[in-house]
Amino acid sequence: MICRGRVVAVTGAGRGIGRAHALEFARQGASVVVNDLELAAAVAAEIGDSAVAHTADVSTWEGAASLVEAAVSAFGRLDVLVNNAGIVRDRMLVSTSEAEWDDVVRVHLKGHFLTTRHAAAHWRTRSKAGERVDARVINTSSGAGLWGSLGQSNYSAAKAGILGLTLVASAELARYGVTVNAIAPAARTRMTEELFPGLPGPEDVAPLVVWLASTESADVTGRVFEVEGDRVTIVHGHTRGASVRRDPAAVGDAVAQLLTGAADPVPVYGA
Ligand code: NAD
Repeated sequence: MICRGRVVAVTGAGRGIGRAHALEFARQGASVVVNDLELAAAVAAEIGDSAVAHTADVSTWEGAASLVEAAVSAFGRLDVLVNNAGIVRDRMLVSTSEAEWDDVVRVHLKGHFLTTRHAAAHWRTRSKAGERVDARVINTSSGAGLWGSLGQSNYSAAKAGILGLTLVASAELARYGVTVNAIAPAARTRMTEELFPGLPGPEDVAPLVVWLASTESADVTGRVFEVEGDRVTIVHGHTRGASVRRDPAAVGDAVAQLLTGAADPVPVYGA
């Protein structure tokens, strides 16, 4: 019951990883706002009195604002925001349409920003009123955002953007008592079951997310964790390597010097 009394909103919780988060939060004592365009009511009903359904699109300003309002009106406040809602429109970059690019970037990147924006305003108000806020944002990136993934330029770019958003939000919101971390999960859902049928179930992702949501994680922020099955891996984002002063006539020599001894990049998924 490590989230006893916590008020949690999970986006995209009608199925897959988000649904598993919502069920585990309820088991761990939290009250849950179950957001999804589809199936939110079914998951909220499965949980019972400690859940409410919220069916708005989190990639719109009003939809994201109403998620925070739903938590406040049902349970009095919001403590934890889990940004999880997502879609894929996979295609090689050369064939990707403008709509396929925009839809994926909107749902993932804007959908993470808007909910965080409205939740942050709620926490700032409470903090300025003198309350000791102990709040959490848990974002959902992907191996595609960390290492790249063939046929997913839109998705990889959006998921990499979520990592940048996580860093800035973690630095800006610390003063209000909010930590912000990201996960890069791998689990068998409708998003992955055809390509990777052997992945572990989505319920294996939830324990890390529930712990990050609890009061136990107060000193963990700005971090990225890969999680698959029972394995959790810390990701050390971009680290700065060697640097040299270049001669204007010998840029190639300078780059060759930098690449000698530099670690090879992690291969892009599918390459
Ligand atoms: P899923 O398709 O099973 O579930 C995603 C849910 O998000 C769906 O129920 C969908 O209706 C909902 N949704 C989509 N757009 C929405 C919107 N605008 N507003 C509200 N809800 C919306 O997928 P999943 O595998 O459970 O993925 C969950 C998250 O994990 C996604 O962000 C995904 O990119 C990420 N992820 C998943 C994997 C994996 O292995 N499954 C790997 C890396 C990252």
